[in-house]
Amino acid sequence: MRPSVAPAPPPASAGSGLRAELRFLKGVGPRRAAELERAGLRTLDDLLHRFPLRYEDRSRLVRSSDLRPGEAAAVRGQVVSTGLRHTRRRGFSLFEMLLRDDAGAFRAVWMNRPYLKTAFSPGQRLQLYGAPEWRDPGGLRLVNPQYEPIDGGEGGGGGAEDGRGLHGARVVPVYERIGTLTAKQLRGLVHRGLERLPADLDDPLPADVRARRRLPARRQALREAHFPAPGASLALLNRFRTPAQVRLILEELFLFRLGLEVRGQARTRERKPHAVRVDDRIRRSALAVLPFRLTPGQREALRAIVDDLCRPCPMNRLLQGDVGCGKTLVALLAALVALENGLQAAFMAPTELLAEQHYLTLRPLLARSRFRVVLLTGGQGARARRDTLAALERGEAHLAVGTHALAQPSVRFRALGLAIIDEQHRFGVRQRANLREKGRRPDVLVMTATPIPRSLALTAYGDLDVSVIRDRPPGRAPVDTRVEPESRRGAVYALVERQLRLGKQAYVVYPLVEESDKVDLRAATVMADALARRFPDHTVDLLHGRMKSDEREKVMARFAAGGVHVLVATTVIEVGVDVPGASVMVVEHAERFGLAQLHQLRGRVGRGPGRAWCRLLCHEPLSDAGRARLEAVARTTDGFELAERDLRLRGPGEVLGTRQSGLPTLRVANLVRDQDVMDVARDEAARARRAGVAADLLAGLDAGWRERFGLAEVG
Ligand code: ADP
Ligand code: MG
Repeated sequence: MRPSVAPAPPPASAGSGLRAELRFLKGVGPRRAAELERAGLRTLDDLLHRFPLRYEDRSRLVRSSDLRPGEAAAVRGQVVSTGLRHTRRRGFSLFEMLLRDDAGAFRAVWMNRPYLKTAFSPGQRLQLYGAPEWRDPGGLRLVNPQYEPIDGGEGGGGGAEDGRGLHGARVVPVYERIGTLTAKQLRGLVHRGLERLPADLDDPLPADVRARRRLPARRQALREAHFPAPGASLALLNRFRTPAQVRLILEELFLFRLGLEVRGQARTRERKPHAVRVDDRIRRSALAVLPFRLTPGQREALRAIVDDLCRPCPMNRLLQGDVGCGKTLVALLAALVALENGLQAAFMAPTELLAEQHYLTLRPLLARSRFRVVLLTGGQGARARRDTLAALERGEAHLAVGTHALAQPSVRFRALGLAIIDEQHRFGVRQRANLREKGRRPDVLVMTATPIPRSLALTAYGDLDVSVIRDRPPGRAPVDTRVEPESRRGAVYALVERQLRLGKQAYVVYPLVEESDKVDLRAATVMADALARRFPDHTVDLLHGRMKSDEREKVMARFAAGGVHVLVATTVIEVGVDVPGASVMVVEHAERFGLAQLHQLRGRVGRGPGRAWCRLLCHEPLSDAGRARLEAVARTTDGFELAERDLRLRGPGEVLGTRQSGLPTLRVANLVRDQDVMDVARDEAARARRAGVAADLLAGLDAGWRERFGLAEVG
């Protein structure tokens, strides 16, 4: 179709706009291209979305006499002399420079950069940028400053890569090195890349959103996020809050939310094959199994769930609530509604211990109904398993409680209408999907006791409806929590002893990083022996993840029945286990745990009436920050606050648990920093959906977006 006389087009693979490949950029040879590619940068789009680590204002020049220790500044001067010194430490060198400006002489040093020896000569004029340090003797000196030759003439360094002083008297972006590419080289590269952007660069953020939020178009935003316009606030830049930066964050979060909106819309159009109704008979049946009055939080969550069950599209809801708030009971009542409608329900828990405990809780409650509950775990004998599978397939068993064994191919339900997944973040995406596929578009309720900060929930669980239980069953005092050094072990044991004498029980928790971690297991075993000697009048037992499930069940059952007084446990007790007689918990090596995890552990005590204690023992000397981190657990009972802190300190993976894989890859937005922009993105995406343009906006994107956001099935 192209007339053959036309000038040769650029090579097809060069691409245009943001899709242009970096290897076609001036100054990028095959070696650099390979280096960039190894760092994940292939196209201009990749390069321009790798933002500066920080920005430095080199526009405000000071005289050398105004240099102050610790205050980064730009200063200009003429080189007087240079010298390279090798110090006594092998392989260590100092390149020193003496300069002069009209206020006097000043010094600069560079460590381990011997090659600078040949880069400068006396008489040359330079602009330096860096933070001065005070040394005795020697006085003030700039250490490892950035440098830029000045060609003379007014107004600013020339001679740099584009002749306009990219690195000099302005706010400059500072990039993290890539391989052998320095911050300075990257700056030049980014600048050349920006020059290549067409004036009419596509903009996936709709014009009306931009206008409403007063944000620049994409091309301008990219330029200014790298090379800020004169007068841009350094403070805003470094907080990533200039309009250009916010715009790029919003673009990403908006498109992500848009994908969720579209998927959510598709979901509400889905029809489940079963219908659920709630009438007086069902209400009576629920009341009959109910052992307590529900808390307002439980009631509200249950109402939302039952409303979902009665809708024609499948439920997809997350029930969030602190340990001990009573999620199990809510789930049971939801299951009962399904059962009363002739459906089966499955209740999947992450560990055998927990599945067993749920089973032991639910069975007596359902004994007052006509429904049969069965347990399915990996640790069961072949015979029991075969019977259970047959009962589920024939529809003779109604509620199946179990581990991931429930999701195995051999498990078939006659009519699975509701899948409940407890501690859902402990399961892989595949396991959850496998369970769901046992029914025909069943309703799905996932639960978690890990308080998930809102920003994270909006991202990780963006297409779930969320219910949060914020209250707890009556009569629970907060657990008295304290951080204690090893030297206070005696006092901590005295506390345990007082409780034991009152007939209460204690947990001593040991971290077990992996269930196969033998060293820690030995430590826990040694600890159990030591405690048995310390408390000779009481029974001490050990519970850990490498025990067989029946052994574990026996130990746990003895503890629950009061026959064991001190239970030394690895974190297998982390979730769900319920022993009302336990009033005190000692956590060994508390510094190794996440805050949300400690909060969950602590929730194991104080589940009965009366006061409860938790002592966080630290073995390693703690930094101030480390201590402050643990003190937060002592200070607050708010799991959400602790999770926010975990999120800030340790990142989303830590908060969600290691198995979470549903997080989108965000390259601009940061879930901790950008909650405010997330709110805007959510509003704008919802508005686009209501305006009926969401799907069209997404259709215009190339496939990269969908993949990154895990939205492959949208559309
Ligand atoms: P979690 O939300 O951590 O799963 P559970 O469902 O295990 O909490 O409930 C914690 C404890 O509170 C259990 O012993 C349960 O029997 C009890 N419980 C639940 N709901 C209520 C209620 N409304 N009133 C009193 N106790 C309750
Ligand atoms: Mg629970």
